[in-house]
Order: sequence, then C-alpha cells, then structure tokens
Amino acid sequence: MWYMTEERELMRNIAREFTEQEVKPFIAEMENNHTYPRHLLKRMGELGFQGLIFPEEIGGIGPDWVTMGIVSEEIAKESNLVAILLMLNTAICAETIYQLGTPEQIEKWVKPAITGDVNLALCLTEPNGIFNFSENQTRAVLDGDSWVVNGGKIFTTNAGNADCYIVECLTSEPNPETMMGVSYILIPADTPGFEVGHIENKLGWHGSSTGQTYFKNCRVPKEYLLGPQDTVFPIIYTNLEDEFIMFGACCLGSAVGVYEKTLKYTRERIQLGKSMFDTHQSIRQKLAQMYSDIEAFRGMMYMTLAMKDKGIDTFKQAFICKLQGATLMERVASECIVLHGGNGTVKENGIERYFRDAKMCFLAGGSNDTLLDGLSSLI
Ligand SMILES: Cc1cc2nc3c(=O)[nH]c(=O)nc-3n(C[C@H](O)[C@H](O)[C@H](O)COP(=O)(O)OP(=O)(O)OC[C@H]3O[C@@H](n4cnc5c(N)ncnc54)[C@H](O)[C@@H]3O)c2cc1C
Repeated sequence: MWYMTEERELMRNIAREFTEQEVKPFIAEMENNHTYPRHLLKRMGELGFQGLIFPEEIGGIGPDWVTMGIVSEEIAKESNLVAILLMLNTAICAETIYQLGTPEQIEKWVKPAITGDVNLALCLTEPNGIFNFSENQTRAVLDGDSWVVNGGKIFTTNAGNADCYIVECLTSEPNPETMMGVSYILIPADTPGFEVGHIENKLGWHGSSTGQTYFKNCRVPKEYLLGPQDTVFPIIYTNLEDEFIMFGACCLGSAVGVYEKTLKYTRERIQLGKSMFDTHQSIRQKLAQMYSDIEAFRGMMYMTLAMKDKGIDTFKQAFICKLQGATLMERVASECIVLHGGNGTVKENGIERYFRDAKMCFLAGGSNDTLLDGLSSLI
C-alpha cells in the first residue's frame, strides 16, 4: 500500500499480534458478560497506540493519523468495540483536552491517558438529543472559585469506567443563533455528587458501558473549565471531525475482518466434494463485490488520514468517512451472515456480532441521517 512505511509495518504487526493474542481471547467475555476491557486499554497505552496522534513532548509518538488508522483497522478486524474505545479515549476525549486544555489539564489528564492509566468520557447527549443544546438541562454556575454543576446526561460511553468526564454544560442563556452559552467542565469521577445511573443493555458493542451520568451539586475548582467559557459549541462541532474519521477506520477494519472470515469459510465449506466458493459463481461475485467496496473505501480513508497528517482541511471528508464506513460495514456484515447460512446467525461463531456493531457505528457519535443533513450544508 502507498501509505505503508517500515515503521508503520512494524506498528501494524504489533497491533496484529496484540489483537490475536489479547483481544480475540477476551471477546467472548465481553459479548456474554458485558465485561469492560479496562486491561486492554492499559495495554494499548503500553504499546503506544494511545499516543499515536499526540506529539512526543507530551508522551506521544506522533502525530501520525495514518498509523492510527492502520492500528485501528487491525484491532477492528476482530473487535470493533476495542478499536472504538481506543478512539474514544484518544481521538475524542484526550484530543479535546489537548486542543482546548491548559498545560495543567494536559498534564493531569492527557499524559496519563496516553499511557493508558486514565480513562476519559465525553458527556454531550441529553434526553432532548445531542446537538440541540439550547434545550439541555445540565447547567454550571460559578460560585466563588468553584463551578457547581447540576443535571444529567444519557448515553455516556465509559460511564462508571472513566476517571474524568468532559461535560457539556450551559453556563449562560443559550442562543442557538450565535451558538453561545455552552462550556465544557471537567468532572473527575470522585467528585462528590457525581453518580452513574442505569447502564444500557445494547444491541451491540457488548463490553462498553454506555449509560446515564448525573451531576448533583458537583463542585469543582473554576480551573476545571475546559476551553473558552460560553463559546465552546462551535468547537464541539469541529472536533467531531476526528471522531468521524476514526469511526471510518474502525468500520473499515471490521468490514475487512468479517469479509476475510467469510472468504475463508466459503473456501473451506465443502458440499458435494467441492467448496462453496468454487461451486457458486454468485458467491464469488458477492465476495468480489465486497472486496471492491472495501478497497474503494480504503482509498477514501487513507487519503483522508494522509490529508490530516499534512494539515489539509478534512471537515467534509470526515462526514463521508463515517457515513460510508458505517454503510459499508453494515452491508458487508449482512451479506456475510447470509454466506455463512445458519451458522451466520449463531452467536458463538462471531459473525452476527459485526452486523450488530455496525448498527452502533451508524448511530453513536451522531446518527448517519443527521450526518447527511450536516453534509448537505457543506456541498
Ligand atoms: C452506543 C452508543 C454510545 C454513545 N456514546 C455517547 C457518548 O459517549 N457521549 C454522548 O454524548 N453521546 C453518546 N451517544 C449518543 C449518540 O450520539 C446519540 O444517540 C445520537 O447522536 C442520536 O441522537 P438521539 O439518540 O437523541 O436520536 P434523535 O436525535 O432522537 O434522532 C432519532 C433519529 O431521527 C432522525 N434525525 C434526527 N435528527 C435528524 C436530522 N437533523 N436530519 C435527519 N434525520 C434526523 C435520524 O434518523 C435519527 O437516527 C451514544 C449513543 C449510542 C447508541
């Protein structure tokens, strides 16, 4: 591949070995018992994955978005969720603190996130939705030298497993026209008044903890304001760029993973003395179509990651990465279930999981329908 170098090849091999030896054996535990893979996040810190998009001066080994894509793709071949959790900790949360934070905030939260010692979460969504902030209920009021936060969020991923929560709060009268009124406040998990509510039993991403978070008179020092006061909403929107791109890389990896398993299966399943792959032209064509769709999307993905490394604006491409990635993963996973016949529907065989996880990629981080709406304003 044009984007491969010796160093990237090395990192891919490390990610492949980690996935094979540490992620794969833990999938059944995550699927069946919904166990959160905290130890895998720590390992991803030790292996350098959490530092790929951060510069050396804060403990990273980047920034190198292409390598971040390669590593995420490798992990997502087996576990879409573990790749997503890597993205949540790095490209979403630590990156937000790195971009907006003070040197003290970076020292306290980003550096240990890079080593895998700290887990982060982003709390945006409330019962009214994710983007219509003017109807949000979570408010922060400055009282002397402290912010006092009251309210609650839903669908917080890493709820109960994060050490610090980046909470979107109304800090003045919200104005949807000027996008004023919104700030981020950092709430450490041990803040009195912080509570985790119900954890959702979801269709996919078993092993992640997505649920309710509550803030009841949570008092934090005024220095815990992250970024500018009242004017953070436009920044939230542009920060989604990194998230959408990395969603694409995770979806690409999972599409490749389920496609490769299915190719192998159709070659090994013998009926009337011949493999299904050799017997049925329609099966070969379906697999060729998947391969073609995957490779076309790979082009889009790595072009976008390389553009990011060169500092070229990728805002529009980011929407396309998430839209196309989730669509590709869902389509490929759906076809692969069918090509496995009855076996495709059996949980233990690990094929139907890709389809369930694809639906999560469709909705989390902004529904694909909403993204299309956003993209329509950019074309
Ligand atoms: C597994 C999971 C993890 C999540 N993790 C987090 C997290 O860590 N932090 C966080 O803050 N949030 C998180 N979310 C919330 C997620 O971002 C929202 O669920 C998502 O943005 C959809 O918002 P909603 O559920 O309020 O749906 P609604 O806003 O009610 O939308 C429902 C549907 O209406 C349609 N629709 C809505 N708006 C538009 C539009 N503008 N144009 C076209 N169609 C539209 C779409 O079909 C959409 O799917 C998570 C969600 C899931 C499922």
